[in-house]
Amino acid sequence: MKKIYTLLYILLLTSALYAQSDFNSWFVDKTLRMDYSVLCDAKSQEGAFSSFHESDSWGGEKFVVDKCDYYGDYYMQLSDALTDKILYTYSYSNLTGEWQSTEMATETKKVFRESVIMPMPKKKSVIKIYKQDSCDVYQLLLNKVFDPYEAKINYVNTKQYKTILQSNETEGTISFVILPEWYSENETEKFEKDAAKVAKWLSETEPYSNYKDKFNIYAVLPDGPTQLTRALPQTKMNFKFNTLNIERYIASFNIPQIYNNAQSVPFRHVIVLINTYDYGGSGFYNTYTCLCIDNEDCQSLFLHEFGHAFAGLGDEYEGNVTYKVKKSNCEPRYPNLTNLTNFSTKWEKDVDAGAPIPTPITRTDIEIGAYEGGGYSSKGIYRPSKNCRMRTKDASYYCKICHKIIEETLQKQTATKK
Ligand SMILES: [Zn+2]
Repeated sequence: MKKIYTLLYILLLTSALYAQSDFNSWFVDKTLRMDYSVLCDAKSQEGAFSSFHESDSWGGEKFVVDKCDYYGDYYMQLSDALTDKILYTYSYSNLTGEWQSTEMATETKKVFRESVIMPMPKKKSVIKIYKQDSCDVYQLLLNKVFDPYEAKINYVNTKQYKTILQSNETEGTISFVILPEWYSENETEKFEKDAAKVAKWLSETEPYSNYKDKFNIYAVLPDGPTQLTRALPQTKMNFKFNTLNIERYIASFNIPQIYNNAQSVPFRHVIVLINTYDYGGSGFYNTYTCLCIDNEDCQSLFLHEFGHAFAGLGDEYEGNVTYKVKKSNCEPRYPNLTNLTNFSTKWEKDVDAGAPIPTPITRTDIEIGAYEGGGYSSKGIYRPSKNCRMRTKDASYYCKICHKIIEETLQKQTATKK
């Protein structure tokens, strides 16, 4: 038996070393950020490169990532210029996609400032941004060559930070950065307490808690101004309420400004705390989570918004918003919503035995089915379970399907070998 364990140990060690050497042969341990802008309206969009930014250490996957899910409106792809080998890719969302589905976008054009992050490539590479056009068709929005020896790269000025949680592991870790918004320099102590509170939720809530030994959590400290009042908050990263004319929707259109602050530490996921008692937040897949931290519902709000930002989950509630989940013959891109046109690509195999599809809400013997109502619509869009953190703030759990999707994301991002 001991021999088997020894063999297993050697195999695991070899896999870890293989993944690390795979990473080391393509990347240096730094973060590269590419900023770009998008000019768009409801029907068209044009992308333009802005700038490159570098910082020490990379807080994401330490291996080549050559496949991504398509849960977001966009995906980025970094590939080797000589061989076309895909080195790093991820899917993501931001306000641009939502804004394009509003009435406003039918009347006017708007410029959005965006960023993508990646480990620093050692060799000449190509960075491509793709935008979902219709169904599973993505259009190339931007194509930029990056040569580490010739590109103009700005070094990010780092800010003071505090380490809240540091993993003992050297492989398969994932890094989160918590940023302050509407805090004055005098409120550093409050921010540290708020950030510790969020780190605790992340470390104690399933399924994240099963991976807490692999988490690094950092908090970048407020750096003024000191004359800030709650009545007149001064923004550092352009977060504002009433985004897309929805009162509780607080978000920022300026991603580069957020990432400029985040790059003080290695990071893969960004959490922004808004220093207010008001209720609101937002979460964009693989871009950022934001939440008002002094509201009594802030814990359930965080776990809901983080479900969007970390795992690409969609809203399972019905109701009026100014943006829409596209109604078409193709499945919504969110893994926890279906219109039943291609249910086998969603959670069909996890449905309870004997559950009718669609599943009547009156069936008390069924847990996982396809219940009508979700994605802001009461008709034509279906969710996996009667209730979930992604449906109401009163649910103290993720439904089984959302739980599973979050767990899969955690496994992927903390793997030591792809
Ligand atoms: Zn759910």
